[in-house]
Amino acid sequence: MVTLTIDGIQVTVPRGTMILEAAKAAGVKIPTLCNNKRLLPFGACRLCVVQQKGRRGLIPACFNPVRNGMEILTNTPEVIKARKIQLQLILISHPLDCPVCDAGGQCELQNLVYEYGVADNLFKGEKAHLPVDHVSPFIERNPNRCILCGMCVRICDEVVGANELSFVNRGWKTKIGTDFDRPLQCEFCGNCISVCPVGALNDRLFLHKARVWDLQETNTICGYCGVGCTLTIGTKDEKIKRVRAEENLGVNQGNLCVKGRFGWEYIHHPERLTAPLIRKNGTLVKSSWEEALELVAKGFQEIKDTEGGKAIAGLASPRLTNEELYTFQKLLRGVWQTNNIDHAGGYSYAANLALQESLGWAASTNSFNQIRQADVILAVRCDLSATHPIIKSEVVMAVKRRKAKLVVINSRHIYLKKFASLDLILKPGTEVALLNGLAYIIGQEGLANPEFMATRPEGFAQWQKTLEQYTPENVAVICGVSVSALKEAARLYARGPNSVILIATGQASTKHDWALARAAANLALMTGQIGKENAGVFILNEKNNAQGALDMGVTPHLLPGYVLVDNVNERKRLEKLWQMSIPENPGKGAGEILQAALNGEIKGLYIVGENPLVNYPQAALTKKALEKVDFLVVQDCFLSETASLAQVVFPAATFAEKEGTFTNAERRVQRVRRALLPPEEAQTDLWIFRQLAKLSGAPVVPNSAREVMEEIRVAVPFYGGMAYEKLDGLLSPQWPCPGLDHPGTAVLYEKEFPRGQARFLAAEYVDEPPETDYPFYLITGPVLYHSGSLSLRSPGLKQLFKESYLQIYPTDAHQLELREGQEVLLKSKYGETKVKVTLSRQAAPGVLFLPYHFSSGGGNELTGWDLAIGRVKLEKV
Ligand code: SF4
Repeated sequence: MVTLTIDGIQVTVPRGTMILEAAKAAGVKIPTLCNNKRLLPFGACRLCVVQQKGRRGLIPACFNPVRNGMEILTNTPEVIKARKIQLQLILISHPLDCPVCDAGGQCELQNLVYEYGVADNLFKGEKAHLPVDHVSPFIERNPNRCILCGMCVRICDEVVGANELSFVNRGWKTKIGTDFDRPLQCEFCGNCISVCPVGALNDRLFLHKARVWDLQETNTICGYCGVGCTLTIGTKDEKIKRVRAEENLGVNQGNLCVKGRFGWEYIHHPERLTAPLIRKNGTLVKSSWEEALELVAKGFQEIKDTEGGKAIAGLASPRLTNEELYTFQKLLRGVWQTNNIDHAGGYSYAANLALQESLGWAASTNSFNQIRQADVILAVRCDLSATHPIIKSEVVMAVKRRKAKLVVINSRHIYLKKFASLDLILKPGTEVALLNGLAYIIGQEGLANPEFMATRPEGFAQWQKTLEQYTPENVAVICGVSVSALKEAARLYARGPNSVILIATGQASTKHDWALARAAANLALMTGQIGKENAGVFILNEKNNAQGALDMGVTPHLLPGYVLVDNVNERKRLEKLWQMSIPENPGKGAGEILQAALNGEIKGLYIVGENPLVNYPQAALTKKALEKVDFLVVQDCFLSETASLAQVVFPAATFAEKEGTFTNAERRVQRVRRALLPPEEAQTDLWIFRQLAKLSGAPVVPNSAREVMEEIRVAVPFYGGMAYEKLDGLLSPQWPCPGLDHPGTAVLYEKEFPRGQARFLAAEYVDEPPETDYPFYLITGPVLYHSGSLSLRSPGLKQLFKESYLQIYPTDAHQLELREGQEVLLKSKYGETKVKVTLSRQAAPGVLFLPYHFSSGGGNELTGWDLAIGRVKLEKV
């Protein structure tokens, strides 16, 4: 540590801290226009100059590290004069169009000019007259207002990794530009806007919509992916005007992706459902809440009375809050007496459950912000740029700032490979064999961690035997990866010193997920890359509250807190809490529910926020199953493809219109706060569940999300400390957090969660033999600009990505004589779909890619409930 004085105040800070940061710690404000805690120091604006006693001249505080005994003065006449001159120099070319500038009220230049009283200018010069770029739907670039602080260039490089912007020209002609001055062609995350201290970069959705001081701001959690970024939603007159992020809040610390910052437009879409609908004479017509609720409560009651609870099922979306998901399964189990409950297709969470078997907990072992501190990152089947952009930024920071080694393991040439030390393109579905192969090499080369191995590990000898077939030579043949690349990856990972494994899950999960998570856990265990900071295994869930849906027991065989339905004692404990009985036997999962519906065994189906017709495999089968259900009730924000088949449709609120919590993919339980009211008669899912529970005579019906959380704290022991008051800090805790005085657990298997919980389990690779009739592999997955199908209702996102397309590798396209944009018929053994092709080097030879967001050409006609890797053939139309 280093001790110094700043304006007479003594402060002690870690060695390497810059004077600017030390001043902050001492409570002394030093102005700056080019410094941001998300970025490395740069020293462009020279406003932070200070004086050091005993040294001539002025020094920039942002760029000079502290030294013991330093005496710094931040407010001497020389310092103030220098800052005024610096501001005058900036104002030579800067336009004084403050009345129409969107940055008004938050412009750091304006504030400093005011603070330093710069009323006139010694220097004269021409104002800039450069063209304004407003081609992108989200970002306006006004170079005339640019002060060349370089923060947009740096965040785009250091954090986003896109390198879209750079300094162009020299001297007075210097500006920030793109290659050849073309319009922006980037990820449109808008992080450049977030660091711009003036009005040079603006949020186009916000442009001239409101003055910043008129906004009412609410901190909540993004409703898209499992990162769980904190959003600050600005509203005026019950309408969202802009979304931004605070630098000191949440896991994202000021950064957002395009969906989080700009993907909110669907909330005000004119097609939002605003009243309940009931099918009358074959048509859905508006009804009152009383009529619709009574119809549904009575409908399910009748089925329960005549057929029993086994004829009822429920499917919920992992986009709901914990409180809603908990209440949903309680309603189904306690009131309608069924364990036929599931979420996310019933297969997206296999990797989590596998991790529970291996490591004791069904979740990522570490915290996201430790990824940037890792030395080696194995990104297995992760297209992070598309699915979890803020995690991609963690990886970019690790690679760029710490020279971490990134090993990309994928079947496509994804964007992430740009940062990779090693890019392993493997045959689809062979990741398990590859990870087993790495474990084999690590064992053979004596790279296993002896200290860690000595502390436990159960099952090691048996597991070692299962590895015998995964010699590098065998694995090279299975995966199509060279032996030398396998050895390099194994050595990198084992030697770390700190290595992480990232695995993405979600709608694109396959039948290999379970074994994949096991193989990853085995690797981490044998190398000691677990139970410590900056290491571990991450399961990156696709949807915002996928972790919460599991924690809350929205599964056919697990009650809240991962208690098996057939665990009598635990079931009884829950029954006492609910004052209702719970069916004894595990229920059916999503696929089985649809199969049972097809067989006429499921009479009543309650679907909340899910759209199986677009999101589940085998669309044709799903449609038939849904059409067979006598009483289909759907709750959604829009009249989705599934909702349009229902007998009753309830209009639901979006994440921005409700209270509750989401649990992100690093186990962090975060507060969701209402920023605006739902439109017209739409209601929160929790409100609807409560009305149905009350109408059905449930004995305990908590009144609010807060009250439900109080019950969850009792039902789920590792949520015991998650009282709302505790979740109001800058960064809320991660579970396990068993009590109010517990700080939460950033790293699993430390201290009170001992390593003894972990064990080696065989991760069996199942070969998928070639199918000669279907020569191409088909990978379906998300793209950056969409998440599920909700984002399709945001016009800006839709403009960036309008329709489905099939990525095909150029040599494959040439062989088939296909042109860019040509329509083809894709056929699998489950169905067919028409889609246009795009020639792309992001595909791989023999491997096609199809985004799965779209109802037309989305790929779920082609994939099967066997969850095998897709196989298709392609015909010209
Ligand atoms: Fe963050 Fe994910 Fe939302 Fe993007 S979509 S802002 S990465 S939570």
